[in-house]
Amino acid sequence: QPGQRLQKVLAQAGVASRRQVEKLILDGRVTVNGLTVTVLGTKVCSDDQIWVDGNSVQMFEGLCHYLLNKPVGVISSARDPQGRTTVVDLMKDIPARVYPVGRLDYETSGLLIMTNDGELSHRLMHPSFGVDKTYRVWVKGPVEIEALEQLRRGVVLEDGKTAPARVVLRSGLAKGNLSKEKGKGLEVIEITIHEGKNRQVRRMFGAVGYPVLQLERIAYGPLTLDERIPAGKYRSLTREEVKRLR
Ligand code: URA
Repeated sequence: QPGQRLQKVLAQAGVASRRQVEKLILDGRVTVNGLTVTVLGTKVCSDDQIWVDGNSVQMFEGLCHYLLNKPVGVISSARDPQGRTTVVDLMKDIPARVYPVGRLDYETSGLLIMTNDGELSHRLMHPSFGVDKTYRVWVKGPVEIEALEQLRRGVVLEDGKTAPARVVLRSGLAKGNLSKEKGKGLEVIEITIHEGKNRQVRRMFGAVGYPVLQLERIAYGPLTLDERIPAGKYRSLTREEVKRLR
């Protein structure tokens, strides 16, 4: 029998992780050509009509991977109840429906992977995968060495102690997007973490006495942000880059 396994197709379409998709099928939430399918491993073809909870699922859409430079003031979920611009809105001209891998705060800018590769996305976001993420952090200086040491060792937050981090003081860096006036006395620190606690970098710096004034993600795993991609713009990942992510 031709075709692909239903749970694989749904996971690749970005519906959910493979395990979650299997549960959706077992729970009777998936139909194929109008019939509820609860058998894992059911094979489907490209002209089968698949629906999950009444939503049509696009099948065999080519897998697309993009690197977006998220601007400040854009929300990184697919939809916003308040109607603010989302990262998905920034990618209207591409043929696929892509979703962000993880989140950046509304006020955070920088590297965000956008993809319809559900399996890769779920794997990258899983805590056990522990992808390194590097952030450039602007704070009011001068920064005490002891604060940097604390960030390196780990900081106690309300949801636990953070893992050891790489922390580098980058004095001579440009002042980011801040005005000359606001940029006075600023220092730039680069921090690499592999956890994904909510607002982790902001909370870590707050905990050691240096509230974050501006935050930008400059690396995600093997990918780095470069000046060729201005804020709000994106580019496709190369085959090589996708391979390295996997
Ligand atoms: N840490 C934060 O505090 N904010 C982000 O957007 C990402 C990491």
